[in-house]
Amino acid sequence: MPKLIDTFGREINYLRLSVTEHCNYRCFYCRDDEHTPNCKREDILSYEDIEKIVQFFAQLGITKVRLTGGEPLLRRGISKIAKLISRIDGIDDVPLSTNAHLLEKFAGKLYQNGINRVNISIDSLIPKRFEEITRGGDLTQVIKGVDAAIQVGMSPIKLNVVAMRGVNDDEIESMIDFAINKGIDIRFIETMPIGLSGIEALAKHISEKDIFDKINKHLNNQLTSITSNKTAGPAHNFKIKGTNSTVGMISAVSNHFCQTCNRVRLTAKGDLILCLGQEDSISLKDAVRSNLTDDEIKRMILNAINKKPEKHEFNSVIDNISNRKMVEIGG
Ligand code: SAM
Repeated sequence: MPKLIDTFGREINYLRLSVTEHCNYRCFYCRDDEHTPNCKREDILSYEDIEKIVQFFAQLGITKVRLTGGEPLLRRGISKIAKLISRIDGIDDVPLSTNAHLLEKFAGKLYQNGINRVNISIDSLIPKRFEEITRGGDLTQVIKGVDAAIQVGMSPIKLNVVAMRGVNDDEIESMIDFAINKGIDIRFIETMPIGLSGIEALAKHISEKDIFDKINKHLNNQLTSITSNKTAGPAHNFKIKGTNSTVGMISAVSNHFCQTCNRVRLTAKGDLILCLGQEDSISLKDAVRSNLTDDEIKRMILNAINKKPEKHEFNSVIDNISNRKMVEIGG
């Protein structure tokens, strides 16, 4: 079978797999307060569906599968899913994206089952503010989750902060210091106009340049640019001299990185999404539950990759992505 190379010559080797649409946090830029997943158990990919689909992707050249959600740690059997995926031939990297609320409980088992590294979303270190942004989140619990990840040996651990003007932009400096003290990495993400909540949050958008100016001023030019490595993804990363930490920015809006896009997304319901900022998808759940042969399903995936758009349209056609919900796609 050929590899997954799209019509723009991009090699797709990274699958972001959402394992649930449920989330215990309700970050205002990600979802409406009222959002409740409308899915029955049979709508969601089973362990067997997941294993089969990831095997197909691995045979087509996917090497990295990130577990995301909703909140992935809410999925029953998340450690089992981690184990199933990390044992698949060809998959050599299985990171996790989590809000860390439950990480204290799961870190040890996940690490044993192949989750070596983790991205933790954390938008404030002020408990009241954190609670407001997440509409009910518990900062103490999240910090326990960060410490548990450190303790079991996950590495790298990256804190992901959505930087928002008038919300948490006065904390960029203290969050960097927090990461340095813990010996872990930190990245600031621009708000993206995905779904109505994301579009509304654009009013609080801060550009990569403004974020960088704050970082650089705080760190007194102690930054060395890191050229892209295996785990960097779309971030611009810098080593902070004299520390074990890096700081980075992900700027999908002011500086899109579509020309190097190497990823596709699979929702918990089995929809293959080719681009975060476009409305196209195909159902792989239907395919694996049909009597199509393995080769026919792999062919279907190859055909879908040919339709991967050249770039997202965040800057021009905002309506295009208003039906999407980040909480269902997994970021
Ligand atoms: N629950 C997990 C977590 O908190 O990381 C995984 C899912 S969450 C949707 C993945 C990432 O998407 C988080 O870092 C979150 O902050 C980010 N995100 C959600 N909506 C966003 C938006 N409109 N703009 C930028 N990032 C967003």
